[in-house]
Amino acid sequence: MDKKNFIITYDGYDPKLEPIRESLCTLGNGFFATRGCHESSHAGGVHYSGTYLAGGYNRLETKIADQIIENEDLVNWPNWLFLTFKIDENEWFSLDSVQILDYKQELNLHCGLLQNSIRFRDNQEHETSMKTFRFVHMNSPHIAAILWVLTPENWSGQITIHSAIDGNVKNCGVKRYCDLNNQHLEQVRHGLASENCIYLEATTNQSHINMSQAVRTLAFIDEKPIPLNRETLQKEGYVAQELSFSCTRGHSFTIEKVAALYTSRDTAISEPTLEACNKLLRTGSFQELFKSHEIAWKKLWDRFDIQLSDSDRNQLLLRLHIFHILQTASPNTYDLDVGIPPRGLHGEAYRGHILWDELFIFPFLNFRNPLLTREFLLYRYRRLEQARYSAIQSGYRGAMYPWQSGSNGREESQKIHLNPQSGRWVSDDTFLQRHVNVAIVYNIWQYFQTTDDKEFIYFFGAEIIFEIAKFWASLSRYNAERKRFEIHGVIGPDEYHTRYPNSDKAGINNNAYTNIMAAWVLMRALDILTILEERRRDELLYDLDIDSEEVDRWRQISQKMFIPFTEDIIDQFEGYSDLKELDWDYYKKNYGDNIRLDRILESKNDSVNNYKASKQPDVLMLFYLFSAEEIKETINRMGYTFDPMKIPQIINYYRNRTSHGSTLSRLVLSWVLSRVHRSQSWEVFENALISDFEDVQGGTTPEGIHLGAMAGTVDMIQRCYTGLEVKGDELHFNPQLPQNIFEIKQRLRYRSHWIDMTVNHDYFKISFEKGWGNPVKIRVNGNLFVFTEKIEKVFSLK
Ligand code: BGC
Repeated sequence: MDKKNFIITYDGYDPKLEPIRESLCTLGNGFFATRGCHESSHAGGVHYSGTYLAGGYNRLETKIADQIIENEDLVNWPNWLFLTFKIDENEWFSLDSVQILDYKQELNLHCGLLQNSIRFRDNQEHETSMKTFRFVHMNSPHIAAILWVLTPENWSGQITIHSAIDGNVKNCGVKRYCDLNNQHLEQVRHGLASENCIYLEATTNQSHINMSQAVRTLAFIDEKPIPLNRETLQKEGYVAQELSFSCTRGHSFTIEKVAALYTSRDTAISEPTLEACNKLLRTGSFQELFKSHEIAWKKLWDRFDIQLSDSDRNQLLLRLHIFHILQTASPNTYDLDVGIPPRGLHGEAYRGHILWDELFIFPFLNFRNPLLTREFLLYRYRRLEQARYSAIQSGYRGAMYPWQSGSNGREESQKIHLNPQSGRWVSDDTFLQRHVNVAIVYNIWQYFQTTDDKEFIYFFGAEIIFEIAKFWASLSRYNAERKRFEIHGVIGPDEYHTRYPNSDKAGINNNAYTNIMAAWVLMRALDILTILEERRRDELLYDLDIDSEEVDRWRQISQKMFIPFTEDIIDQFEGYSDLKELDWDYYKKNYGDNIRLDRILESKNDSVNNYKASKQPDVLMLFYLFSAEEIKETINRMGYTFDPMKIPQIINYYRNRTSHGSTLSRLVLSWVLSRVHRSQSWEVFENALISDFEDVQGGTTPEGIHLGAMAGTVDMIQRCYTGLEVKGDELHFNPQLPQNIFEIKQRLRYRSHWIDMTVNHDYFKISFEKGWGNPVKIRVNGNLFVFTEKIEKVFSLK
């Protein structure tokens, strides 16, 4: 594979940019991740060295604004990175205490390696060059390693290396959460496991997850161990080794720190400290480990890469996004019983909770490694019991999944949040986004369509879909005057509209997206009833107490759901058209292009609820999820006439009223524009592509990357511009490349086959690799071809 466009390079050190870089240079393997902070930096100031474990949550209570609130967080675990040095009795090295002469940082996406090359001068005029290398092993998920090459350039003397595991860490990654209790860890033990190996075990104080980290630090010159003096230091929550030896001007030496990390959540273990220490004993050198790590990444790139022949920059950003998806969800994630946090394992925003963002992430996984999607759907299945309980508690039937989900699937949304703009604590009603219960069904349906995994539907999927259908049916109420069903008291994907102006009750009525999607869920439940094998169907109907009356209600609601319209525009919700228009010019001029209007207006004692202003597309989500024909069919089925020719008008209407306060916003807009205005779609797409790289939201990337937007941009290339859709048992391609893309190459996994595809403006080429599955029907621009054996076929697009 061509290794061009796989390296992100940062020239120069600018402390102000460190928080963004540390997020973007996070290294992980789907089991755990550590931020891209320099080894010598302590958390504090601009640096933040978080380590996060998939599924590593803990709950804490805090008294704030006269309330006791409880939050569940993805815990920041002990810092295994810490490594520094001093020359003779001078001060310990840190990036911020020396004069930097040269600085270059590289993130190599191809092999998951973070490299720094620094030359610096300390206050004693010692000049030193330092090359650092670090990876988190992709094939051996409990292992990570650091290598330093130090060269004394103008000095000789005694050097002391300090290599530690620092357990005295808190969750401090998001400033506005800092008033809340954030001490999640308690120390269990630390010590010396063997001459070179120290360990530290900590536990979360509520969920009682233990993590043990063990590190081995060695020093070499010319690949031979350096004779040295080694001392072990221990204090509360901290263990370190100091290695002292003399070094000579111009002679480079290397320091190698290998870490092993186990937790009490791991399978096939006795206890974490024993496993971490044993693992280190059996683990080879940095170089040996790196070889197998590099091979693991190569295999992933063979399957997940998308080659884009336009600008090098777009190609690189696309790969950066794929890289971070794979660092959060990889084969190491199997069996961990987790979902995908929208901010990755890269930071603490949204406390590592699972929201609806998987809707934007799964399509990429479905066509590369659908087993990953299956794992994440099972996370939901295992929390079905809790979702049933939540539905009952709120007076509904079926299963009501939470807007924010963590360890056990109860609602984890915060009750109040701090508006950093006004300094006020305000109530957070976003948990009323019941549409997450649509996303789960949509995800199951997409997974099923792509894989034809009937066993999944049989044993798990159908049960979730029926329970969610029951929930929507019980939430829908019949309005006899209108002779239609309605849904009241919810919030749509646009989180700005949480209540009616001046109302003291949270929720709005008849959010078009929610209503239409609820009807769509009921249609899918009816479909499952007809396709599911009789015995399983009867079993589920009995177990879930679904009688013919209930099924009849599903049918009626799906045909008679209310949709608010004002002339040709689908209203975002009932009453939306009565809201005031915002002075967009004023706000854009004063606050920029991606604005959190909710915070700005609250700080002016006003409310965004008063305006026709959205954080992100809401109605437009319908055109993101469905083709024009599907939407027409769904809406017409409800007894409305919907003309797809009106879609461009609807897009324009909402486009002019969206503040892009979420990184998902431009992504959705670019997708919906792709069929009506390709060049505009591309322009918006390029904006979505830089969301994290340039931290366009001004300060959110340091708190974690935005995986929904990252995966969504990848999916734009994968599905949107290639017109990739699964329809029944056919795989459709309807390519419509923007002028700016010359060619797209990718490899898709589809129903147990690999399909290599190349598309440009002239032709569409398919190389079909016969796998274990049945013959595959592929339709390119309407022409059907059945692929049965290894074959290459070219369709002209002229
Ligand atoms: C968006 C949500 C999204 C969340 C996490 C919010 O800003 O409004 O739709 O789920 O971020 O990415």
